[in-house]
Amino acid sequence: MIVAVPKEIKTHEYRVGLTPAGARALVEDSHRVLVQIGAGTGAGIEDADYEAAGAELTADAAELYAAAEMVVKVKEPLPAEYPLLRPKQLLFTYLHLAPDPKLTQALLEREVTGVAYETVELADGFLPLLHPMSEVAGRMSVQIGAHLLQREQGGKGQLLGGVPGVRSARVVILGAGTVGGNALRIAVGMGADVRIIDIDSRRLAALDDHYGNRIQTLMSNSQTIEEEVRGADLVIGAVLVAGARAPILVRRSLVAAMTAGSVIVDVAVDQGGCVETIHPTTHDQPSYAVDGVIHYGVANMPGAVSRTSTFALTNATLPYVRRIAGQGLAEAAKADAALHKGINTLGGKLCSRPVAEAQGLNW
Ligand code: NAD
Repeated sequence: MIVAVPKEIKTHEYRVGLTPAGARALVEDSHRVLVQIGAGTGAGIEDADYEAAGAELTADAAELYAAAEMVVKVKEPLPAEYPLLRPKQLLFTYLHLAPDPKLTQALLEREVTGVAYETVELADGFLPLLHPMSEVAGRMSVQIGAHLLQREQGGKGQLLGGVPGVRSARVVILGAGTVGGNALRIAVGMGADVRIIDIDSRRLAALDDHYGNRIQTLMSNSQTIEEEVRGADLVIGAVLVAGARAPILVRRSLVAAMTAGSVIVDVAVDQGGCVETIHPTTHDQPSYAVDGVIHYGVANMPGAVSRTSTFALTNATLPYVRRIAGQGLAEAAKADAALHKGINTLGGKLCSRPVAEAQGLNW
């Protein structure tokens, strides 16, 4: 199969869909890999690295798409890319079609086979191609919070880990899933005083087993949240109710009750956020203050650590790319129900019920 890797064109998107190691594995499987010149630059990967892996470099995006049987990307295609897509071409990337009727129509009209990373789902509900980005965002959330706690950033001027004789910052993590668990790991490592709150007692028990009395695990309810958030220096929002808007756990009045210069990093902002006063921001202007409390609401945090995110993403996607390239999508999806769930559009037909429902289309 001919697998193509274009350069991402979305503003401030520096990731790339495949690493040189991924290209090499595909070439070893006897596929052709085409990479657009400069595709890896934002992730610190040189064109020569792809060439050394056996990939062929192409200057022109149109040429690359014209030759590709499968396009492996990171972000959904933008309108400038729609005309490049061809019937029966396989597009493997994050698609997020539900809120995007224009892209959905473009894929249907052009009869593109759209397989979305975010809807590949194992039987137990685990989303293997979203998971690595939650790991990245969770780990980033604490280093970002630590930075925003600095005085010149508007924070209260507190060092997360304190120093001997001076208390460390109190970090409250709402949600103990992938984002929360990874935030916890970094916050503990930096010496903060950490509390983590969830409705899932098994998850709390697992963290308690692992960290012992270095952390506090707490059951989620409005009273606990109020007590803990009020006294927090840094709050990390990390809750998810699959497929739904994030529940609002921190009301405006509670934000107002926090001390000035405290920081909220609401990673769940991409699902609406779990803090009433959060709104989506960008890497250009990532934070703002409400009642003296610094808010951070970047919805694509992993884009800022493009190198780590690119390698983490390829680690997760490559086994699927190899199977699709080796067996063809039909065979690969027949053998793998998780991959089957990833198919959103096929031969001009919409295959995703949630997308149809979100857009009021017939199902
Ligand atoms: P996850 O499913 O692994 O964890 C979510 C946790 O929230 C679960 O443990 C669940 O029990 C808990 N939860 C649900 N309701 C709760 C409540 N009322 N109180 C306390 N806990 C509650 O999800 P995840 O992978 O950790 O993702 C969390 C959020 O972060 C998602 O919205 C995800 O899309 C988002 N995310 C954002 C970025 C970004 O760049 N901003 C990047 C990656 C992930």
